[in-house]
Amino acid sequence: MNVLVAGGGIAGLTTALTCHQIGVPAAVYEAAPELRPLGLGINLQPNAVRELVELGLEEELASIGVQTRELVLIRRDGVEVWSEPRGLDAGYRWPQYSVHRGELEMMLYRAAVRRLGPEAIVAGRRVLRYEHTLDGVVAEVTTADGGAEQVATPILLGADGLHSAVRARMFPGEGGPRWGGSVLWRGTASSAPLRTGASFVVIGDANQRFTTFPISAPDESTGLQVQNWIAELRFDSNRGWRRGDWNTCVSADEFAGSFDDWRFDELDVPDLIRRSEDVFEYPMVDRDPAAHWVHGSVALIGDAAHAMYPLGSNGASQAIVDARVLGAAFVEHGVTRAALRSYEAQLLGPRSALVLGNRNLGPGSILGITDQRCAAVFGRPDDLSADEWHDFITDWRATSAAAIERLNAAPPTIPAGASI
Ligand SMILES: Cc1cc2nc3c(=O)[nH]c(=O)nc-3n(C[C@H](O)[C@H](O)[C@H](O)COP(=O)(O)OP(=O)(O)OC[C@H]3O[C@@H](n4cnc5c(N)ncnc54)[C@H](O)[C@@H]3O)c2cc1C
Repeated sequence: MNVLVAGGGIAGLTTALTCHQIGVPAAVYEAAPELRPLGLGINLQPNAVRELVELGLEEELASIGVQTRELVLIRRDGVEVWSEPRGLDAGYRWPQYSVHRGELEMMLYRAAVRRLGPEAIVAGRRVLRYEHTLDGVVAEVTTADGGAEQVATPILLGADGLHSAVRARMFPGEGGPRWGGSVLWRGTASSAPLRTGASFVVIGDANQRFTTFPISAPDESTGLQVQNWIAELRFDSNRGWRRGDWNTCVSADEFAGSFDDWRFDELDVPDLIRRSEDVFEYPMVDRDPAAHWVHGSVALIGDAAHAMYPLGSNGASQAIVDARVLGAAFVEHGVTRAALRSYEAQLLGPRSALVLGNRNLGPGSILGITDQRCAAVFGRPDDLSADEWHDFITDWRATSAAAIERLNAAPPTIPAGASI
């Protein structure tokens, strides 16, 4: 093993698959006792889908995801403010996918076990801390009998998410994630297709929002599809909230009353919430951008490096791209500290800007940094004059068109056949 990856989430498994592609022996240690399909709906942007296609996962991804066709913003009073095509419909060469996070993780896990072998993806192994040695790193890792052992590795990657132990060792005084004042409640229920049947719909205003998108094709017999939803409320951030954890199951009574009269032509919000089996709470947290992600032979990746508000379909998408950029750096510099520094030099700035940009967009804005102008007016379109509105639309279309062209023309992150 040349690379030990702490964490078998989206970043860790994509890193393992990338290492395998370029001929770098790698192993993943996952803290959970087994890999299970946890989480709810997420979105993968075309730049991340492109990387999964490069990894040969196109068909499997298509079988678990819904190709997102449009983004729609609707005011609380039901007036449509904005809609635009997404993914292939927007002109990208790759689709955007809405997908169940757990199914995505299981897809990556199956591929990693097939390609690297089951012994390379080990559950029930929590990385606790690390120390540098003369020729690499020693990680302290939990064992099945409740003890811990030292594992030597040339390179350690912290892909261990929001509460990363690797990051805590790198920045001992940092403390926990930072809550910005919004809380998300998430669930799924089957429902008749909304609009295109592949629409990402956001309804609300600055303090209260409801987002919904499908994560399955319509069932052939019933015509219903699994609709993922996120209800969001804003509170005074001084009051504090429970610890940020993606798996906290709560009663819908905690928030559903605030959405009692959210009924629209095609969407009955209270009904969707009521019919959802499990509801998960997530206080919207992030971390201040880190000064560095690399410490000698150790690097952070994915949420461990840049936990951000889950807006604009960025969490999993950026984690996947991180893994690929790191892989390209290995190809260029070998499995070395120089490769880690090159990866950091390419991504630290843009990812930090994204973390802060997501914050500045205001709590709960679903649009992410690239949708900044749109988010600035979302919910308050009447504040804009007709000229400003026209300028915004023209600017926004030009920005999107440039981004689409750039991605479509970009060479593969890792050239076909590249290996070290
Ligand atoms: C259970 C779960 C459910 C989620 N659900 C959603 C969701 O519904 N919507 C959404 O937008 N995002 C969700 N996320 C977050 C989303 O997956 C990430 O933002 C994004 O995919 C980036 O992935 P990542 O691999 O960096 O982090 P994660 O996906 O969080 O993966 C980190 C992995 O590391 C493991 N781990 C943690 N500490 C250690 C350690 N010390 N040693 C070894 N392994 C460790 C964790 O068990 C996890 O498997 C969820 C994350 C998790 C873990």
